[in-house]
Amino acid sequence: MSNSLPEPFVERLEQIVPREQFDSILRTFDSPKQVTFRLNTLKSTSDALEDALRIAQIPFERVEWTEGLIEGVYRIAPEEKLRLTQIEAFYEGHFYIQNLASMFAPVLLAPQPEETVLDLAAAPGGKTLMLAGMMKNTGWLSAVEPSRERFFRLCDNLKSQGVTNAHTYMTDGRSVGKKCPLMFDRILLDAPCSSEARFKTHEPKSMSYWSVHKVKETSKLQRRLLLSAFDALKPGGRLLYSTCSFSPEENESPLQHLLERHGEHLKTLPISLPLENVQKPLARWGKEIYDERIQNAVRILPTDTIDGFFLCLLEKI
Ligand code: SAM
Repeated sequence: MSNSLPEPFVERLEQIVPREQFDSILRTFDSPKQVTFRLNTLKSTSDALEDALRIAQIPFERVEWTEGLIEGVYRIAPEEKLRLTQIEAFYEGHFYIQNLASMFAPVLLAPQPEETVLDLAAAPGGKTLMLAGMMKNTGWLSAVEPSRERFFRLCDNLKSQGVTNAHTYMTDGRSVGKKCPLMFDRILLDAPCSSEARFKTHEPKSMSYWSVHKVKETSKLQRRLLLSAFDALKPGGRLLYSTCSFSPEENESPLQHLLERHGEHLKTLPISLPLENVQKPLARWGKEIYDERIQNAVRILPTDTIDGFFLCLLEKI
């Protein structure tokens, strides 16, 4: 058992995840994950990318269970990552290194060519790139990021990966709903979170800022971002909310807050993923009893290949 994860985090995690999986989940924080990456369909093809990997002599495997959902997903051993970032196809933006869990958010949101789409918390842009690819660089894709440094990283990524339908805004996502009411067909809110699923015991910095207080503060920001996303969504439009945290304060609770305010205009949609390591949302946490509709969301439990993640798909009625 790990002893360098924050103790309150471990205690809370034990109350969140299924008891029989708790020990194996704890172990995933100790070992480096397999590295996965995704073909950039705007710039390359699977054949060309596989040729480039063979020429560079990087042993790779195609992730088969994502086929039909996501084009060209590959995995390599963690020790090959450095070499992967040194080949020309990397500099040319022919692929993007991304955890498998993160790829499901754009897949579930399913933006179509010519639609009006908003990525409300976009940097460094892994999901924005995927949205642009799914939209085939057509329509209008707004990408919002308030952090200056991260905003410029987002812009660099969009440029190097050949995205031409994105419009970037260095602004606070909380202001977008009032500025752009009822404007978007689809909205991704991959919310700023305490990143609990990214904790690594061999990287103390990954968890040095975490505290229960921080989780609660983040929850307030997430609530306001969700309300902003609701205001910006067209009737009939879809909103995908995701985080890479386990805490119910960052997942079920912001959704509860949204449903308490606008529940008569919202429904949640069932999510089906080709994964076994998923868990239903909690029905209650502390004194809070959650709306039945939140049960359609999923919590992906971490393994050695996939990060923990939370996803909920909503539709505005
Ligand atoms: N979707 C991104 C991706 O796939 O590459 C990752 C997004 S990360 C989980 C959350 C982002 O939200 C961070 O870049 C953070 O700076 C940004 N953020 C923080 N506060 C925000 C706010 N008030 N409005 C919008 N974005 C915010």
